[in-house]
Amino acid sequence: EVALTVPDKKVDSVCPYCGVGCQLTYNIKDNKIMYVEGRDGPANHERLCVKGRYGFDYAHHPHRLTKPLIRRADAPKRGDFTMDPDRVMDVFREATWEEALAFAGDTLAQIRDQHGKKSLAGFGSAKGSNEEAYLFQKLVRTGFGSNNVDHCTRLCHASSVAALLEGIGSGAVSNPVMDVMKAEVVIIIGANPTVNHPVAATWIKNAMKNGTKLIVCDPRRSELARTAHRYLQFKPDTDVALLNAMMHVIVSEGLVDQHFIASRTIGFEELERNVAGYSPELMAPICGVDADTIRYVARLYATSKASMILWGMGISQHIHGTDNARCLIALALMTGQIGRPGTGLHPLRGQNNVQGASDAGLIPMMFPDYQHVTDPAVQERFAKAWNLAPGVLDDKPGLTVVEIMHAIKEGKIRGMYIMGENPAMSDPDANHAREALAALDHLVVQDIFLTETAYLADVILPASAFPEKTGSFTNTDRLVQMGRQAIDPPGDAKQDLWIIQQIATRLGLDWSYNHVSEVFDEMRHTMPSIGGITWERLEREHAVTYPCLNEGDPGDPVVFTDTFPRESGRARFVPADIIPADERPDDEYPMVLITGRQLEHWHTGSMTRRTAVLDAIEPDPVALVHPLDLAAMKGKPGDVVTIESRRGKVTLYARADDSSPRGAIFVPFCYYEAAINKLTNSALDPFGKIPEFKYCAIRVALGGQV
Ligand code: SF4
Repeated sequence: EVALTVPDKKVDSVCPYCGVGCQLTYNIKDNKIMYVEGRDGPANHERLCVKGRYGFDYAHHPHRLTKPLIRRADAPKRGDFTMDPDRVMDVFREATWEEALAFAGDTLAQIRDQHGKKSLAGFGSAKGSNEEAYLFQKLVRTGFGSNNVDHCTRLCHASSVAALLEGIGSGAVSNPVMDVMKAEVVIIIGANPTVNHPVAATWIKNAMKNGTKLIVCDPRRSELARTAHRYLQFKPDTDVALLNAMMHVIVSEGLVDQHFIASRTIGFEELERNVAGYSPELMAPICGVDADTIRYVARLYATSKASMILWGMGISQHIHGTDNARCLIALALMTGQIGRPGTGLHPLRGQNNVQGASDAGLIPMMFPDYQHVTDPAVQERFAKAWNLAPGVLDDKPGLTVVEIMHAIKEGKIRGMYIMGENPAMSDPDANHAREALAALDHLVVQDIFLTETAYLADVILPASAFPEKTGSFTNTDRLVQMGRQAIDPPGDAKQDLWIIQQIATRLGLDWSYNHVSEVFDEMRHTMPSIGGITWERLEREHAVTYPCLNEGDPGDPVVFTDTFPRESGRARFVPADIIPADERPDDEYPMVLITGRQLEHWHTGSMTRRTAVLDAIEPDPVALVHPLDLAAMKGKPGDVVTIESRRGKVTLYARADDSSPRGAIFVPFCYYEAAINKLTNSALDPFGKIPEFKYCAIRVALGGQV
């Protein structure tokens, strides 16, 4: 017993879950992770949450894919399905790597050659390393020949990034989370860090203990709201009304920072005119927060020595997500609350590498480092770096995640390569997404489990789990950190970087990367923001913040101190007006659905639901229903309820929870038995192309079969 608990090696790495980027140490014996310890990283100082500490044994789960699989000729052709990993061989047959790669890659090449470069698309992953993301987008851009490449950033902060790039010229955070310790006032809006960024939440609690005033604004009352200085429970979908009213107060009471506005920004007059019509008295009945509270919070934010804003999906996942983020940016700019320690704008990034995957170009409108695909100088630079003839690279933005699903149904996209993403669960209107994936001529899925998406594939390539490979990962603070291989992949599963290169070869690309460090080296020569970070330095220091332009540069945790990375060096105000949600409640569907995550489970659940401790804490699909709504249905906690929208229905267990207002139901999207995205609306924000996960009309009734 004692011998079993003594590891034979320790490997320093980072957490595979959220964007906080906690550093940890894997304790290994006989190629198995025994336990995990927190390490003294810049973002966590040894702290870990329940996922980081206990969410590791998915890597050893018997459901791991260990052989390449090819769909049987006589297998039922896709459609809807029941997940049954024990019946995999009814649908797929084992294949050798040579056969699977030839089938996967050669068929993609045939579709490209027969139907054109835009008939293919790829989804990379925010769970993969920077190097995997970079190679994947390079494969799509040079092997498929188009910019039809995207990943789950489209589903989380695409609207925030659109607003940030437009307003301040950079899509990343201005200050690290830890700066809450230096702030006098912190506003958290549309985010629930205790659940989604748990270690970040501990720093926020520490800051409150030291006197920082926390303002929580959210239709759902989070745990942080209980101890906040003020909690503003605004009505769902009324963010712009609330934020414009705050700006109205700041302008009308002369609390703006005139010097900052004059020297660092453009467009204030237009914004000033716009917010003049949004007095707190007019907006209070719309947003549900009384005018005095709006005035108090606006004054507090504007007049403190250092105020910081953090936000999450509650802001971004609306058809007006970009407008919501524009308002937050304007608040910071008009008060000069940016460019100093303890101030600034921090969109809390979700996945452990969603920042890095976006930086590395896994998005359809930008090459790596947010260099526009439409810019001829940028195209020329990348063509040269990638040894291509001038004019070969596609100069039009590609399709985004939801647009790709529509393009499949229209017959425009015929083949896809999906690495480590699960759109059959994560896309809005999931029935439509599943039908689209099933309609593809050829679907290649590279993953570690038979996900709902993999079940629809023609060929499945068994990949490596996070602790089975080495690579760099970029956290929400712009911190590039080293994840190190701790164990070997099981069976014939291979490392993702190897698989991408094998597919590339079959698409006619001539790549020869012998080590992950060679990919990183190419990245830093095409991405100025990380130009000063060498692989050796990452190995030595474990973590380096970008922008880091030259070797020896310490990196900048706080940016925009003197200038903004826009042509003029000035940030831009962009006014926003109220746009209602795409689908409002009505007599037929009288309630509102809000989707999100739970502390114990991660996204579509493929990892955490195969983790013993986490699954034991939250084993069943639940809907969080206000106790009065439950009582009105004559139901009680634990009863089975069926929730239905115009797009689909699911059945799950009701949990009494008064954190949402009456009439709004919260459902986590991690349960395949009750895939809530069958109900969500695929209407898009026009700028970020993000779907409206946070609001659609539903009806609820007792009963059904889970
Ligand atoms: Fe992992 Fe995020 Fe938890 Fe840290 S806070 S241990 S990064 S899930």
